[in-house]
Amino acid sequence: MTSYLRPRDLEEAVVARAAYPNWMVLAGGTDLMVNANHKPIPGGILDLWRLGEIGFIRVGDGAIAIGAGTTWHEVERHPAIRDRLLPLALAAREIGALQIQSRGTLGGNIGTSSPVGDSLPVLLALDATIEVASVRGRRSIPYSTWCTGYRTSLLASDELIVAAHIPLPGAGTWTTWRKVGTRRAQSISKVMGAAAIILDGGTVVSARVALGAVADRPIRITAVEDAVRGLSLARAAEAARAAVRTSIQPIDDIRSTSVYRREVAENLVARFFTSAAGVS
Ligand SMILES: Cc1cc2nc3c(=O)[nH]c(=O)nc-3n(C[C@H](O)[C@H](O)[C@H](O)COP(=O)(O)OP(=O)(O)OC[C@H]3O[C@@H](n4cnc5c(N)ncnc54)[C@H](O)[C@@H]3O)c2cc1C
Repeated sequence: MTSYLRPRDLEEAVVARAAYPNWMVLAGGTDLMVNANHKPIPGGILDLWRLGEIGFIRVGDGAIAIGAGTTWHEVERHPAIRDRLLPLALAAREIGALQIQSRGTLGGNIGTSSPVGDSLPVLLALDATIEVASVRGRRSIPYSTWCTGYRTSLLASDELIVAAHIPLPGAGTWTTWRKVGTRRAQSISKVMGAAAIILDGGTVVSARVALGAVADRPIRITAVEDAVRGLSLARAAEAARAAVRTSIQPIDDIRSTSVYRREVAENLVARFFTSAAGVS
């Protein structure tokens, strides 16, 4: 028989996590339940759904902290996130459809660490930090180092994800997120990405650009970031397109071909810059 624990607080949760590192950590279950019938029955379930200490959105002066247990619906509806972390609100709106958004959590997206996790390029482009907890204490991990391979991360077997801390983009920063899938709801991305572009008038001062579904993990496209510095937005769009072409090796799979993914990725990143031209 499978054991089940719904901890009352984070302290009880991390104690249980340390005692039973092989138990399934369950949040909304929208990733875990998809394959549940094809996997061995876990020895136990540590159910974090609605655990208060990881269900929060805190707006600070320089950053917004979002608890791991926050659902996509809550992320999308939050006025400060809509206003100041637009790429995350845009991603939240296109994750699954309403049912998935009401149950799926930020922590679950980070925990699964899939290359098609829609929020993950946002965390890269906005330079987020992930806060984790265990009986050993808390630590912060830059999201840029979080993913270690296909669906693997730096999270240790006794740790739980507590929150993502996302710095607020400064004045003059244009941010965006865009996904290309089969349709706009219930569609896993063929390619998706996010950007934070710092502008001085119509000139790119610097940019952070990240893509999902083009590698074994979400990745920053540093070749684009290097190529666009100091250029007008129109020239940056073309430079970005060329840099994407030579810096990704997407795979062929059931959702798309490598050739299509590369072409879409080029267009998507070029459009980040042409769209910014509309507001600069
Ligand atoms: C029909 C459907 C459509 C979907 N569409 C999309 C989509 O468009 N885009 C997209 O990105 N995803 C999509 N998903 C995947 C899923 O909804 C998201 O990844 C969601 O954010 C997962 O959150 P969850 O709370 O349900 O995670 P769960 O399934 O509960 O957990 C996922 C993983 O994270 C771990 N985990 C969760 N919380 C913690 C924590 N606090 N500490 C440590 N580990 C933790 C779990 O152990 C597990 O390994 C879809 C899923 C379905 C079923």
